[in-house]
Amino acid sequence: MNATGTSWAGSAHLTPRPRLYGTRRCDVAVVGAGLTGLATAVELLELDPDLRVVVVEADHVASGASGRGTGLLGPRIGPELSVARRRYGDDVARASHLWSIAAVRHVLALVRRHRIACDLTPGSQLVVARGEEAAGEQLREADAADALGLPVSLVGRDELPAVAAGYAGALRYPDAATLDPAALTTQLARIGEQRGLTVFERSPVRGLRRGLLCTLSTDDGEIVADHVVLAVNAFGATPGAPTGVVGLRVQAGVTGKLSSEALAALDGLRTEPLIERGELSPYFRLTPDGRVMVGGGAVRRGPRGSRAPVPGLLQDAVRALSPVLADVEIESSWAGPIGMTRDGFPVVGAHRDDPGLHHVGGCNGHGLAISAYHGARLARQIFEGDGDDLSFALPWMRPKAPWMPRGRLVDRVLDRYLAHLTAEAGRPYAPGPGPAGPGGRA
Ligand SMILES: Cc1cc2nc3c(=O)[nH]c(=O)nc-3n(C[C@H](O)[C@H](O)[C@H](O)COP(=O)(O)OP(=O)(O)OC[C@H]3O[C@@H](n4cnc5c(N)ncnc54)[C@H](O)[C@@H]3O)c2cc1C
Repeated sequence: MNATGTSWAGSAHLTPRPRLYGTRRCDVAVVGAGLTGLATAVELLELDPDLRVVVVEADHVASGASGRGTGLLGPRIGPELSVARRRYGDDVARASHLWSIAAVRHVLALVRRHRIACDLTPGSQLVVARGEEAAGEQLREADAADALGLPVSLVGRDELPAVAAGYAGALRYPDAATLDPAALTTQLARIGEQRGLTVFERSPVRGLRRGLLCTLSTDDGEIVADHVVLAVNAFGATPGAPTGVVGLRVQAGVTGKLSSEALAALDGLRTEPLIERGELSPYFRLTPDGRVMVGGGAVRRGPRGSRAPVPGLLQDAVRALSPVLADVEIESSWAGPIGMTRDGFPVVGAHRDDPGLHHVGGCNGHGLAISAYHGARLARQIFEGDGDDLSFALPWMRPKAPWMPRGRLVDRVLDRYLAHLTAEAGRPYAPGPGPAGPGGRA
């Protein structure tokens, strides 16, 4: 993390790239240098090293969610399995979960294939229930997984690992890992560049003209491309981005290095992070250099700004996890953007009237695995022309997300929703966008 504690990506060694000046012609232009955009670009260049691929980024590589994530790589996509069964039927619920497992495996293979140094630690994830009501909900979820034949197991109170002793029960998801997402993202940029990728930074896309070819315009230049991929995540105001994705900011933080006594007590967290059930509930993992990384507890509307809105909640959550953490301090905290949709699914597909204009976004704060996987699948689809392997009936393959209000109306609706969530967690909510902090972009 950096000295001001604004973002995890601040620690990555960042190679500055040029701004875009003048006009460029390419085969595929990708907007956004996060995991989605860079995974798309790298896959395209693996499929055809002669392709001209350009990534254009408003700020710098990994400046969005991909540089600020907590690094829990795990399955699950969209609503819970019990809800997905009801809404979409068993086949879709099963296929969706299996897709998310394939996404985790894809990232594991990507990291190994390119020997990416990102502290990859394979393991599982434990979604823990605080209290009997949450444990009952987990029972329903375990039944749903069982009915669908999916690898999710119920862990009773007596079988919980020592670090989760305070919880009422858990669900274990075996296909998972942890890693440093900023390192993964910055190295994907370098791998792409070694294969001929051009990355422009500090070049926000302001306009999009569609025709036989797509033209993207920035303040000082233009890119003319056969295909455009909008990989802008929570930044729904980008021209051409699908409607229905709303940007919010969530927070995370990391403690100082723990004592050897604390590390011994928390050892299980190294390969099995804890995720507390509930929208604003905290989640924890142990980093390879012996710190607890924690997320959750506060959300603000708007994607911009990097200062954690309520860092004290992160500290309270860590201290409550175990008596050995009673005096621990949060050394650095930050916020980052997530793109939310009304149904909890992302939005991946092509523009309704323009098969050359593609989009991937709205991972609802859980996109470490699926963003990279979607990028790779989309690359394959572009490469194979009308091979169209993304078009089968998964609910998030679509031209836009379900309707969401816009402008002031969305602010009011979001404030009401976030106040409701915060009240459920027993805390006050300060309406509005909250602190922007350094790194917030105009
Ligand atoms: C605090 C935090 C913790 C998280 N923890 C986890 C986790 O543990 N596990 C997990 O699965 N997920 C987690 N996530 C979510 C995960 O990080 C994201 O789903 C994933 O990184 C999204 O990648 P992306 O490339 O789609 O978006 P981003 O990384 O946000 O990239 C989008 C890029 O587009 C750029 N851009 C936007 N508009 C324009 C424009 N007009 N012109 C040019 N460029 C533009 C942005 O600057 C940005 O760099 C977390 C997110 C946050 C914020």
